[in-house]
Formats: sequence, structure tokens, C-alpha cells
Amino acid sequence: MGPRSFRACPGIHSAEGIQDAVKKREGTYIMRNQLPELGTWISGAGLGTFEANAVLSNMTSWDIGGPAEGLCTPFTRQACESILERAAATGVPVTVLGHGTNVLISDRGVRGLVLCTRRLSDIRMEGTRVYADAGVSLPNLAVAAAEAGLTGLEFAAGIPGTVGGAVAANAGAHGREIKDALEFVTLWSNRERRVCFAQELDLRYRRSRLRESREVVLEACFKLEKGDPGESLAKIRQWGRERREKQPLQYPNGGSVFRNPAEHSAGWYIERAGLKGASAGRAQISVKHANFIVNLGGAKAADVLDLIKQAQQTVLTKYGEHLETEVVLLGFDD
Ligand SMILES: Cc1cc2nc3c(=O)[nH]c(=O)nc-3n(C[C@H](O)[C@H](O)[C@H](O)COP(=O)(O)OP(=O)(O)OC[C@H]3O[C@@H](n4cnc5c(N)ncnc54)[C@H](O)[C@@H]3O)c2cc1C
Repeated sequence: MGPRSFRACPGIHSAEGIQDAVKKREGTYIMRNQLPELGTWISGAGLGTFEANAVLSNMTSWDIGGPAEGLCTPFTRQACESILERAAATGVPVTVLGHGTNVLISDRGVRGLVLCTRRLSDIRMEGTRVYADAGVSLPNLAVAAAEAGLTGLEFAAGIPGTVGGAVAANAGAHGREIKDALEFVTLWSNRERRVCFAQELDLRYRRSRLRESREVVLEACFKLEKGDPGESLAKIRQWGRERREKQPLQYPNGGSVFRNPAEHSAGWYIERAGLKGASAGRAQISVKHANFIVNLGGAKAADVLDLIKQAQQTVLTKYGEHLETEVVLLGFDD
């Protein structure tokens, strides 16, 4: 960002303002007035909705989290690309949010622009290939594929996120994961659109290169096989029943909090450590499934974080095992 940018920013008149801007140039934080300008541009160009200081708690499955400095929901994939480009050009940091089922958002909220993919919801089928926009609901996609007589995504019907979030996490269940069905993705990467094959994404157990690279999934293509709709839908129903029996779905939660270590599940360690039912504020380690932390109503992110740290410390002390979080922490680092 050069000196012209400073002149173009009406909020920066004082020496302190310029120092602030310089800190921003150094990557410390963004210039104050870039975000409202970006928001005005998004709304004015009809690219999507924009809201300043937007509530985020109701956009996460935990019902927890402070506000987004700016929240936008692009209407189309092309609009999404334009917004990402403009944000990059103006130095506004972007955090992508899908269905918010794998994130813990800090009580302070998220700085910069939160870009929500939910409106990007096109599904297209060509033979045994299924193309889905990043914001497509994974359960909807799994059912649509099954109904169309395609098998290979039944495992995903109970994973409540979006396609983009699922690729970023290499989400999985019932012995299968996204990498088993994904052929390629279209990404927004280094300010351009590119196609990447699944093998290039470093997809491993609940990990991908996307978590660190901050590339954005725009669309995914899954290569499935011909199957029997009746069998696929029966499998989906059966696995759905099993989930309802095992998981505390009556409370807002963030799914599995920790990745499973090699030897035993994270829940096994937490339960053995005597932490089932432990609480902090209005958050509780579920009595039904020890790898879930539930919001009993009005829990804060700080309460959940407290339980995460308690579980990590206790399990490390008792079993020498470090539990890594599977959920992504947003807004805690600045
Ligand atoms: C009740 C419950 C059950 C669950 N069961 C499972 C399960 O069986 N297996 C499993 O693997 N997970 C499970 N999860 C976790 C979660 O649903 C998945 O990880 C899901 O794929 C997250 O998608 P999302 O859209 O909600 O992502 P979000 O929570 O919105 O985001 C998660 C991360 O992905 C990034 N992200 C989101 N969209 C994109 C994109 N388009 N491009 C790049 N990055 C993106 C975000 O920036 C963030 O870092 C469960 C969660 C809940 C609440």
C-alpha cells in the first residue's frame, strides 16, 4: 500500500493515524476505513450483502462468538471472486465461514471481513461427476447424489458443514473421508482462480494445506460411482440414527473438539481422565460424548476455551498425550 492509499483514506489526518497505517502496512492490522469502503462497494455493486459489526454467534453451531467487523455473503461465485480480489487489493484480511460447524469464534469477534459462502449453492451432475459450489450443504449434497443413483458420499450426510469447509478439513465419517471422493477443486489462490487436483491438497486426517494457505474453495468436483438409490438412502438413514444416539445433538455444539490420537479416541482419554460433565460457565464437556463440548445456554467462547485447556492439560499429565484441536479457533490471535 503506497502513499496514495494514505491520501485516499479520509479517516487518516493525524501523525498517529499515519503511524497506525504504517503498522497496518507491516501486517499488524488493517487501516480503519478500508472495510466500510469495501462494504459500500459490495452492496453498491450488488455482489452480496454486507453488514458492519455483524452478530456471528447465530452463524455457528455452538451459538457462540463475538461480532464480525464486517460480514458479507456473496450472491454468486463470480461475486465471491471479485470481493476476494478487492479485499486483497485493499489489504483487508478475509476469514471464510461456511456453516460455522467447526469453528470457535472468540467473544471479541473477528477483525476484517468475514465472507460467508452460504449463498453459493449450485449443484451440477454430469455422469458420475458431481460439481458443487463451496457453500453447498454437505448433507444436501450427499442426499442429492444418493437420490440420483450415485454412491460414494453417503458418509457425508451427517456432517453438517459446507462443501468448502469439508474440503478444508478433509471431513470424514464411517471409514471414509472427502479425499476418497474428491477429484479436483477450483480455488481462489494468490489472487487468482486455479484448479487443483485432490492429490495436491495434502488431504490427511482432518487436515489439508488449505487451513494454513488460506486459499478459498470456490467449487469442488466429486467422482462417484453408479449405485442403488434405495441402498444409499437406507445407509444414510441408519448412520443418522446412530449419530442421534451417540451425539449430544439437543445442545448447540461444535462437533468433535479434538482430533483423535493414534492409539485411542480423544473421547476415550477425556472420559478416562474423569472430565465427562466438567463445566466452565455455561459450557460443559458432554456427559453423552466426551469429545463434545456443549453450550447449555449462554456459554462464552472463553468458557469453551477453558474446558479445552483443562482437557488438554489433564490428558497430557495423566496419559502423556497431547490433544490437538480439530475445531478452528477464530479471532483469538490479535
Ligand atoms: C454435530 C456435528 C457433527 C459433526 N460431525 C463431523 C464428522 O462426522 N466428521 C467430520 O469430519 N466433521 C464433523 N463435524 C465438523 C464439521 O461439520 C466439518 O468439519 C465441516 O466440514 C465444517 O464445514 P463448515 O462449512 O461448517 O466450516 P466452518 O466451520 O464454517 O469453517 C471451518 C474452517 O474451514 C474454513 N473454510 C470454510 N469454508 C471454506 C472454503 N470455502 N474454503 C476454504 N476454507 C474454508 C474456515 O475458514 C474455517 O477455518 C461435525 C460438526 C458438528 C457440529
